[in-house]
Amino acid sequence: MKKEVALGLGLGILFFALLQGLDVLPLLLVGILLYVFYERGGLKVLRRHLGHDSTETTLTPITFQQVGGQQTAKKELQEALDFIKTDEKAATLGIKPLKGILLTGPPGTGKTLLAKAAATYTDAVFLSVAGSEFIEMYAGVGAQRVRGLFQRARHLAAQNHKRTAVIFIDEIDVLGSKRGQYQGHMEYDQTLNQLLAEMDGIKSSTNIKILVIAATNRQDMLDPALLRPGRFDRVVRVDLPDKEGRHQILKLHTNNKPLADDVDLTAIARATFGFSGAHLESLANEAAILALRENSSVIMQRHLIESIDKVSLGEKLDRRPHKEELWRIAVHEVGHAVVSEKVRPGSVAALTIISRGQALGYTRQIPKNDSYLYTETYLRAQLKILLAGLVAEELLLGSGSTGAQGDLEHAVSIVKKMIQAGMSSLGLISVNDTSNACLQEAISEILNQEKQETKRILQEQRSHVVALAHKLMEKERLEGEELRASLSQKRLAADSNSKTEKVLAV
Ligand code: ADP
Ligand code: MG
Ligand code: ZN
Repeated sequence: MKKEVALGLGLGILFFALLQGLDVLPLLLVGILLYVFYERGGLKVLRRHLGHDSTETTLTPITFQQVGGQQTAKKELQEALDFIKTDEKAATLGIKPLKGILLTGPPGTGKTLLAKAAATYTDAVFLSVAGSEFIEMYAGVGAQRVRGLFQRARHLAAQNHKRTAVIFIDEIDVLGSKRGQYQGHMEYDQTLNQLLAEMDGIKSSTNIKILVIAATNRQDMLDPALLRPGRFDRVVRVDLPDKEGRHQILKLHTNNKPLADDVDLTAIARATFGFSGAHLESLANEAAILALRENSSVIMQRHLIESIDKVSLGEKLDRRPHKEELWRIAVHEVGHAVVSEKVRPGSVAALTIISRGQALGYTRQIPKNDSYLYTETYLRAQLKILLAGLVAEELLLGSGSTGAQGDLEHAVSIVKKMIQAGMSSLGLISVNDTSNACLQEAISEILNQEKQETKRILQEQRSHVVALAHKLMEKERLEGEELRASLSQKRLAADSNSKTEKVLAV
């Protein structure tokens, strides 16, 4: 809109100047320059209209063997693809061809990789686009691009003498969000309608089959029309890899790298709970960079271990806290870790006092698998874990520090969720109609309850906390297993003590 106005105004001025008999050449040049600057984005649109779009078509053949883990996803996907490979047989049985497969799951888990493998498996040409590429400021462009995409797929397949074309649409939630939710943004709806129309138009009778594979990490956002039969009627979940999957992915991404004899990929797989395939790939890469920095010709286990933190937190900071500060950080982190083990046994992946990125120290929790629903018990446990850093500092060092600021902010956001879900003493309320003072009171009530409980746990574990903080000072990093071993060992020692005492008493 603004652009048209500016253009009109510019032309008007130019015309006026011309009428006045002025030399318009410099004005014209400036105008053209401004226009080109303004239109750099627009020029791209123009190029796309002419067909030189950024759609990826070159296929470096990726096979299912190159996708680590994801056994279930691979199996389901292959099953679906077998229908397409043996479509004549399927047709004689009256089976309708499969038109769309939706891959859902967190980013970096290998959805793109799986789509490419699917194309190789079916011997298809592969076209890949991102949902965001369809969203333009000009009405109708998105829909037109969808049409063009399907045309291009058919054309490319014919050109390459292939019988199948796989169209991969990444981030489909961008264009496939529930219709009518963007007010005044008919564009999204038109684009989605066009996609639905194209998918409905895919027929088994034509000699070139088109399979649409889409990926999203927000299935809940999708317009239900997309999931109706005959569209994306096969949904394949691509989850974060489990331990075995992580091991396989690590093997895949290290097989072109020289590994030292001490490397134990199983241990790395165990310590990387919650990592996606993309994380693991960058972990392998970071380890190689660390080895290179040290002029080592092979990657050693410690390079891999250090990369775990680097991938999850960022580069190590040069600034080293002084000894007193370090002790505080150790106490703080051990507080988190011990309470975490007490309220959710087996939940600590690792803890460290090596400062990285934004964090002075860090306790990595093994995330809960299901991340859509949280129970009150889980949230209250999480609150205790968050408050434990501060409480440990208060308990052992007499006072807290600003190091707990982030923890507190996080805790408050959890409490707010709880209040909204009716888990506070306010009961079921409309948060918007409740006074701030009232909300504040409810927030601090929950926080104080959990703080008391955390204090109780840590007082009980005081000797463990001190011993573990010393250990952390010395080793700088403790794995979850070491923490658990040390916690249970001491308990055993205490138990056997009391046993001997009993024995003595008897
Ligand atoms: P997504 O599309 O799910 O966001 P990608 O397929 O784009 O994830 O993965 C990004 C990168 O991470 C890939 O190029 C690949 O190197 C690596 N990766 C992710 N998952 C796997 C996996 N299961 N096996 C091997 N590599 C993987
Ligand atoms: Mg991707
Ligand atoms: Zn903390």
